[in-house]
Amino acid sequence: MQTIVADKYRNLPNINDAEEMLHRCVHCGFCNATCPTFQLLGDELDGPRGRIYLIKKILEGSNPTPSTRKHLDRCLTCQSCETTCPSGVQYSRLLEIGRQVHNKTLQRPLKEKWIRILLRKIIIRPQLFKYLLHIAHTFSFLLPSSLKNKIPPLGIMPTVSSNAEFSTADVTGQTNKERTLIMLRGCAQKVCAPEINQSATELFIQLGFNVIESSADRCCGALSHHNDATEEARELARRNIDAWWPLLEHGVEGIVITASGCATMVKDYGHLLADDAGYVDRACKIADLCRDPVEILEPFHGQLRKRTGMADNICFQAPCSQQHGLAIRGRVEQLLRSAGYKLTQQNIAHLCCGSAGSYSTLQPEISGKLKNNKLQDLCKAEPSLISTANIGCLLHLQSGTEIPVKHWLQVIEVNELVT
Ligand code: SF4
Ligand code: SF4
Repeated sequence: MQTIVADKYRNLPNINDAEEMLHRCVHCGFCNATCPTFQLLGDELDGPRGRIYLIKKILEGSNPTPSTRKHLDRCLTCQSCETTCPSGVQYSRLLEIGRQVHNKTLQRPLKEKWIRILLRKIIIRPQLFKYLLHIAHTFSFLLPSSLKNKIPPLGIMPTVSSNAEFSTADVTGQTNKERTLIMLRGCAQKVCAPEINQSATELFIQLGFNVIESSADRCCGALSHHNDATEEARELARRNIDAWWPLLEHGVEGIVITASGCATMVKDYGHLLADDAGYVDRACKIADLCRDPVEILEPFHGQLRKRTGMADNICFQAPCSQQHGLAIRGRVEQLLRSAGYKLTQQNIAHLCCGSAGSYSTLQPEISGKLKNNKLQDLCKAEPSLISTANIGCLLHLQSGTEIPVKHWLQVIEVNELVT
């Protein structure tokens, strides 16, 4: 699509990328076929092609309106359209710039603004989040069951979650194991399901790795990035880079992230800090060294088996961040099969479950419908358990079913210890 960018937007960071993406889009509409919001709402403006058109008009100088914002806000940022697009349009780059322009030129209503600020400020502070969750659970008897089900669980912090707390001295001074990994602690997951990192750590240690956590790392920045606070996301990314870089310089192999949504964010650090000369090189290197657990565990597939006592028939819900963001579709499924599981079939595995970070709070109606559709599909073969790879999807799906939902790292174990 030919686009003539208005002079006032010429200096925006990433405007050249946006122009290139608009140029690549041939308006074929293939992407609409795999867009969850288009499939659900049937409105052209709630599909990628329509949204691209809205962003093009805005960049050409049309004024953003509450209506354009509504359609952009309804996007889950699931990136399914990117996987489908035959022209290689990176729609999420366009959306990023479209949202930036909106935020600069059209203020959000105060209520919407505050909900986003509160979500960000609470969830990225694990202590505060934990405290508020504790209060919510204590007084949950006052709530109707529809709301009660939406309160995330409060996990029990494991006593030991890694071989070592971070310090450069630890890394240089240790270790009798050859390979060392940093494990991101995360924010929501650390409070709601710390047992996920614990299971992952146990697996890695049994396979001969050293696992360390850095007390200096923070939230990956995804929540801020998707909620009108790009500068906050950039600051979180810089803090993480500062925390991890000394370790990587001392031979740590990489950063393993058990929540695929967070891994997708860290993989994007090079882009996020592209105009920050002091950080961009390290950001790119860190993005390169960021790993999903499956990438590390695949070579050990012969040493992994299904966890003792688990039934064979489970279902794996592949998060969008894993399918489209990290582009490692099918690999966890293969590992689970080789561990002994019979995975049940799905018809809409490519469609988002509606969790999408804070989307389930900000767009409850659409999110709820997507969740119901997804659960119907996941549960139709009556699996004994649903496994997934992202804390957001896990909590979201669990709030709608009695079938247990677990991270896939919690359903496998090492069949013989490496000595
Ligand atoms: S599939 Fe790609 S080229 Fe076709 S309309 Fe969608 S984004 Fe544009
Ligand atoms: S990111 Fe997902 S919800 Fe947004 S336009 Fe693309 S497919 Fe649709």
